[in-house]
Amino acid sequence: MRRGRTHRLSPERAGRLRRALDRLERLSPPRRRLPLDPVSLAHRYSDPRDVEVAGLLAASLAYGRADLFLPKVTRLLEAMGPSPAEFVRTLDVAGARALLSGFVYRFNVGADVAVLLLGMGRMLEHRGSLEAGFVAAREASAGDLHAALEAFVRELRDVDVARVERVLGKARGLDHLLPVPLGPGAAKRLHLYLRWMIRGPDGVDLGVWKRLPTGALLVPLDTHVARLAWRLGLVRRRTMGWAAAEDITANLRVIDPMDPVRYDFVLCHHGMSGACPPRARAELCGRCVLRGECSVGRRLAPTLVAPARNGPGLRP
Ligand code: SF4
Repeated sequence: MRRGRTHRLSPERAGRLRRALDRLERLSPPRRRLPLDPVSLAHRYSDPRDVEVAGLLAASLAYGRADLFLPKVTRLLEAMGPSPAEFVRTLDVAGARALLSGFVYRFNVGADVAVLLLGMGRMLEHRGSLEAGFVAAREASAGDLHAALEAFVRELRDVDVARVERVLGKARGLDHLLPVPLGPGAAKRLHLYLRWMIRGPDGVDLGVWKRLPTGALLVPLDTHVARLAWRLGLVRRRTMGWAAAEDITANLRVIDPMDPVRYDFVLCHHGMSGACPPRARAELCGRCVLRGECSVGRRLAPTLVAPARNGPGLRP
């Protein structure tokens, strides 16, 4: 990918930021927010094949409001029975119609999701696991993450879409659900999926993929993480695409070289919870443990207020 303006944290600043992020994690433990996060859907399963299938379905539809997409994905998973991996392995187009008839979530309709499920079933049949599919894509791409993700998605989409559309109706948002080509966007949902599969297990991420290093992950850059990264000086770009995700990850790598995306969950939920809203508020900044490292917080709230007992300004 093209590289542009970059800057790196000094070791001193990286150390201060790490201490502040550790404190944030202690004050607002991820387990409190887990039920509100799509990764919780993958936690319902113990078999790695089920985890990776449920995880990819959940991550692919994880856009917009969590309170809207979580029930949709939950209903699909419940209808798929106790083993989503077994379900997709034996799925055919008629079965997809039975599952997805009438399904709509924002840009996506049943035919889009059918392609994803049939693609996962095909990959499981051919390669044994989705992990093997991604490892093969990564090897074919000589370790280039952008090319690897594109190859992975291309293989998932390698199903008879025309037949799916004859039975389920026209696909509407396939390029949104399974983007190919990947383009310059941040590909947040794909990086989120990789984080879930490769990091951990640590109570949030599941760590069921054992053949890939956490150091190779890129931060899943959504609007909350982008806002925090900007305020904390992890990025100087205004356009929050792939290049910005690379910049932020490079700075997070100064904080933790082996596990650069370890703070992604806590950063994302600091924004999602309302503790760090788009329009910063002095009363929230005043009790935010990141304030000392935050350009906005230092300006709005020069005096630190003791964090609330239930976290740094989190909603109860
Ligand atoms: S100090 Fe304010 S703007 Fe900065 S991270 Fe905390 S809540 Fe957000």
